[in-house]
Amino acid sequence: MSSERLKKRLPVPYTDFLPELLKRNYGRWVDRRFHGYGIIEHVSETGERVFTVKVGTPPNFRFSTDTLRRFADIAERHGIGALRMTRSGNIEFLAGSLEAAQRIREEVEGMGFPVGGWGPTIWSINSCTAFLTCTTAVVDSPSITKVLYDHLKPYFTGEKTLPAKLRINVSGCPSGCGGYVADIVLVGHYGDAPTYDPDRIKLCLPRSSKALEAGHVPEVAMVCPTGAIKVYGKEDGSVGMDIIRSKCIACGRCRDVCDWIDFDPDKAGVALLVGGKSSNTGRGPLMARQVIPWIPAVPPEYREIVAVVKKIIDVWRETARPGERLGEWLERIGIEEFYKMLDIPITKWNKPVKITGEFGIRQFL
Ligand code: SF4
Ligand code: SF4
Repeated sequence: MSSERLKKRLPVPYTDFLPELLKRNYGRWVDRRFHGYGIIEHVSETGERVFTVKVGTPPNFRFSTDTLRRFADIAERHGIGALRMTRSGNIEFLAGSLEAAQRIREEVEGMGFPVGGWGPTIWSINSCTAFLTCTTAVVDSPSITKVLYDHLKPYFTGEKTLPAKLRINVSGCPSGCGGYVADIVLVGHYGDAPTYDPDRIKLCLPRSSKALEAGHVPEVAMVCPTGAIKVYGKEDGSVGMDIIRSKCIACGRCRDVCDWIDFDPDKAGVALLVGGKSSNTGRGPLMARQVIPWIPAVPPEYREIVAVVKKIIDVWRETARPGERLGEWLERIGIEEFYKMLDIPITKWNKPVKITGEFGIRQFL
């Protein structure tokens, strides 16, 4: 597509906001070369080149303003004065020569940030914000993400390589804002329904069963998306409540509106899904499938989660063909063989045929 056609299709002259080097070559890139796993060179039909340095960032791009100033300074001294945040949670510096790109690499590595994420490596570990801004988080997905990065950094920098690219998504609760489609997906959830304080729950219910008879539905029941909360009038005229475990999806909405309902914090964990990919390369896009319904999430080291993720990566590395994404490898070897390799028992919760985004207590019943 020519740069003129691109301009016609855009509602605003987007190219006006680009650095001069990119503006001159917009839509004219014809070739690319990799320099290790962290620097990519794009060659334009004009003969000009741009070098992109990909840098891993803390979960949710949580930078201090001081770090951002230092990044901007590096981008101005060595680069073309431009930085770009990617949807995968990386930050990219743009430079006009390989030498300048290498100087950027040295400086950001000196600040403690890894450079990598292209080719057969980890491209990203994405996280939702969880407790930073959210009322429904079950696990602290950013801290799980950080721990995973600490253990898997050689796979991002390319010090160790993988059969193909690998993306990991981590979400704090079943809403799944971290994304459900990735090679490895972790989704926080309580492995059980909430319980309530039997004496104080009345503070969240109408005082008299007459209110129920008049059609009043208490908020705690109204917010439940599955009808798992049943309220009823008692013989003495007061109101009682039950939580039907078989209907509960452990979403936490009832807890948000009633202080006397809560989950057992020891049951906070993650479901693990594997084999998703959003790109249309190779076998095409794939849905991730749930293979382990619940792994305990125990901060600060999250040892159980790290051990499972590392084991999956190890087995995939040892047996996949070059270029085979985790989901494609899974399709070739079969899910039963995958369970065998990882010593994962097949139960009704992770049946080989099941591909689902449904979590919570429902999956255990
Ligand atoms: S996945 Fe859950 S915890 Fe994370 S941001 Fe979305 S709603 Fe909040
Ligand atoms: S956690 Fe969600 S599904 Fe379960 S009872 Fe509460 S509101 Fe209903």
